Amino acid sequence: MGAKQCLSKSLNVFKWIPVLFIVAVAVWSYYAYVIQLCLLSVGSPAQKMLYLVFYHLFFIMFSWSYWQTVFTPVARVPHEFRPPTDVAFAFEHAETQQQQREILEEFSRNLPVVTRSLMGVRFCEKCYHIKPDRAHHCSVCECCVLKMDHHCPWVNTCVGWSNYKFFILFLGYAALYCIYVSLTSLPFFIAFWKNQVEAGPGKFHVLFLFFVATMFFISVSSLFSYHIYLLLLNRSTLESFRPPVFRLGPDKDGFHLGKFNNVAEIFGDDIKLWFFPIFTSKGDGTKFKVRSPHLCLGYDSTGTTTVTVPSTSKGDGVSYPQKTLGEEESNLLRFGRCGSSDESELNGLTHLTPSVNTSKTVERNSEYTSVLIEPV
Ligand SMILES: [Zn+2]
Ligand SMILES: [Zn+2]
Repeated sequence: MGAKQCLSKSLNVFKWIPVLFIVAVAVWSYYAYVIQLCLLSVGSPAQKMLYLVFYHLFFIMFSWSYWQTVFTPVARVPHEFRPPTDVAFAFEHAETQQQQREILEEFSRNLPVVTRSLMGVRFCEKCYHIKPDRAHHCSVCECCVLKMDHHCPWVNTCVGWSNYKFFILFLGYAALYCIYVSLTSLPFFIAFWKNQVEAGPGKFHVLFLFFVATMFFISVSSLFSYHIYLLLLNRSTLESFRPPVFRLGPDKDGFHLGKFNNVAEIFGDDIKLWFFPIFTSKGDGTKFKVRSPHLCLGYDSTGTTTVTVPSTSKGDGVSYPQKTLGEEESNLLRFGRCGSSDESELNGLTHLTPSVNTSKTVERNSEYTSVLIEPV
């Protein structure tokens, strides 16, 4: 084993220190609350029981969510995004950057990729593959992570597509746990503070418990609120700082499908499962619905754009058949109307294509994307 690998392994051990810190605080808080507060300080058996039941409910949900966040493997980029040998050879031997970009553009036409960098197709030179939409390279994990949100040292892993639901639940249950401990220990904290009860080691555990719970509640609840805000807008933390780039340009709301749809994309359709750290996110982490203005400028493996007209509450109730547009018409769609992200663009589309003027949903290469036009 080389010196570099040894150093890397040693650093990996240090990366677990924040996780061990959280576990240590959680274990100590369990001792302080259950033993020192409930069993030794609370007098009434009924109050004792009530305190313990709700405490364990929050503690179990918090611990479960945290475990799932930490130990769910990060979602990596599938093999299909890696250029095959002949493409890689052509890419390596291209004479100019422009040629390299064209090779990647051509290869990515078979992939469900809509976003890009300002230079063209997003390509990770370290992992050597096209980056799927919303994937980013994490220098700590040393790989590209699907729908990367951020790398969190407190869970020693990347928060991304595979564990984002668990991370939000972890923050939510941690906030609930802290505020519950804080509020239920407050009367005892005041009594101890006023010296109405006998001083002892238990007194300091309860005093400290109140301080720690309150402090953690303030920090965790602010982070939780921020992630709820991002969740409702379907933005990752990285995207809130640097908006994803589409062919039309950067658009921080490019994946915004309406608040309920945004939440359902992460938490699934079954509301009963929203509150449990069980994986229910939709899709496979490489394909994401986008707002309609970006649709017609996305990649297309078939060279055609398919417009579906489902029956909706508007119109005459007739369900229109699918219409497949040829390359020429697709180009008309691509360059004739797409220029901004507001709803007037949809009207532009309908003027250009009168036969599909009642469309609500546009599908491009149905294997990959189905795109909502009107965010709620
Ligand atoms: Zn990478
Ligand atoms: Zn990472």
